[in-house]
Amino acid sequence: MADDNFDVVIIGGGPGGYNAAVRAGQLGLKAAIVESRGTLGGTCLNVGCMPSKALLHASELFEAAGHEFSTIGIEVPAPKLNLVQMMKAKQDSVTALTKGVEFLMKKNKVTYYAGFGKIAGAGKVVVTGNDGTTSNLTTKNIVIATGSEPTPLPGVDVDQKQIVDSTGALSLPAVPKSLVVVGAGIIGLELGSVWRRLGAQVTVVEFLDRITPGMDTEVATAFQKTLTKQGFSFKLGTKVTAAKTGAKGVELTLEPAAGGAQEKLNADVVLVAIGRRPFTQGLGLETVGVETDKRGFIPTNHFKTSAPGVWAIGDVILGPMLAHKAEEDAVACIELIAGKAGHVDYNLVPSVVYTSPEVSWVGQTEDQVKASGVAYKTGKFPFTANSRAKINHETDGFVKFIADAKTDKVLGVHMMGPQVGEMIGEACVLMAFSGASEDLARICHPHPTRSEAVRQAAMGVENWTMQM
Ligand SMILES: Cc1cc2nc3c(=O)[nH]c(=O)nc-3n(C[C@H](O)[C@H](O)[C@H](O)COP(=O)(O)OP(=O)(O)OC[C@H]3O[C@@H](n4cnc5c(N)ncnc54)[C@H](O)[C@@H]3O)c2cc1C
Repeated sequence: MADDNFDVVIIGGGPGGYNAAVRAGQLGLKAAIVESRGTLGGTCLNVGCMPSKALLHASELFEAAGHEFSTIGIEVPAPKLNLVQMMKAKQDSVTALTKGVEFLMKKNKVTYYAGFGKIAGAGKVVVTGNDGTTSNLTTKNIVIATGSEPTPLPGVDVDQKQIVDSTGALSLPAVPKSLVVVGAGIIGLELGSVWRRLGAQVTVVEFLDRITPGMDTEVATAFQKTLTKQGFSFKLGTKVTAAKTGAKGVELTLEPAAGGAQEKLNADVVLVAIGRRPFTQGLGLETVGVETDKRGFIPTNHFKTSAPGVWAIGDVILGPMLAHKAEEDAVACIELIAGKAGHVDYNLVPSVVYTSPEVSWVGQTEDQVKASGVAYKTGKFPFTANSRAKINHETDGFVKFIADAKTDKVLGVHMMGPQVGEMIGEACVLMAFSGASEDLARICHPHPTRSEAVRQAAMGVENWTMQM
């Protein structure tokens, strides 16, 4: 049994936890991080952002080699899939990244406890080590960064073989002939894209009558059209009520969301991707009197929970369940603990869908601006008119600016197109400085780049788009 005393003990080693630990170390706080998974990096590095992006990248190249190379004069034999190697490459990247986080802990003098952390009262955390040891930590501050887990779907039990969640879908041993994705959110569409590119017939079943809630409706409509062209099938306004597994695959029972006749849908594999829920199991919240809300989130006020000295950040609190949001929370929370002025502007947390084309956005959607009653103008520019996109044969999509009609302040920027996940950063900077569309429209952008489409769309707000 080891005992130790800290300024801050962080429970959970994901993007929330490890960034909190780094910032604590930088600010001279004596910090510890507790993680039960055996590796640092949380959902994001181990079974989320990073492995999914590794497979998206590899499968995109696989598809390009099979279909697009010949149109630009590169003749290659039909590419052969080596799924074992693709999975190994993914895992090697993940291992390198998680080791990198371990290095960051050492660099910032953070003590890493590999084990399960339980709050045992004010200022007390007991760690049951993965090696069976127990450590009793005392601390001035506890930061809860225990993240989230996939939301289960009643009647559809995940066995990680025929019915998988996102974690299972990152490691399928073979390409299924048919894959049904339940849920048309970002995770479902990204992983659906991976397996479609590798050869699966993908059907997406979604309760709502649209895909990707949260995305600007005009963009979501265009995005669905593009995915359909790529071979996705969609069953919107439909709920899955039961699943039966057998030797021949999975039989799903579907029903119209509004009620009506049932139908059956068969698939080799079903991916349940209906969202994620906060994870606080076994954490000992009751020992400090912290209660979760109806959906399991820990209520906070500037990251402070209802218990003095207990803070919470990342997926376990309200706000977008995104790694970079967890990172923002982490920095602000630790700065507040250190007596500084930590702050996060949740209106400026960008979202990206890493499909091909990508989709990205920041700020308000057009529906939200309309509902707010603010008079607004939009400017749009299609990638069909962008020279770099044209020469690269990547012309699907557009950039859309929404700006206040009176002040020209940018309220939202929405993009679908090549590499727009990288390009949304300039919209974040613009909006963080309360920029106007004209500010961006008058900034010189390099030619030929896809980023010129952003400038042209900004020009469109005042009707002076020049390149179409
Ligand atoms: C397939 C997939 C793809 C994704 N892609 C993206 C993306 O591209 N971009 C993006 O921004 N986000 C993405 N996300 C979301 C992102 O992974 C999360 O928003 C992010 O990981 C949240 O960080 P966190 O630190 O709050 O929690 P987590 O990353 O969930 O980390 C929490 C950690 O706490 C540990 N833990 C829990 N309880 C205890 C305990 N009591 N003791 C010790 N350890 C404990 C868990 O083991 C876990 O490792 C994706 C998620 C998935 C599933």
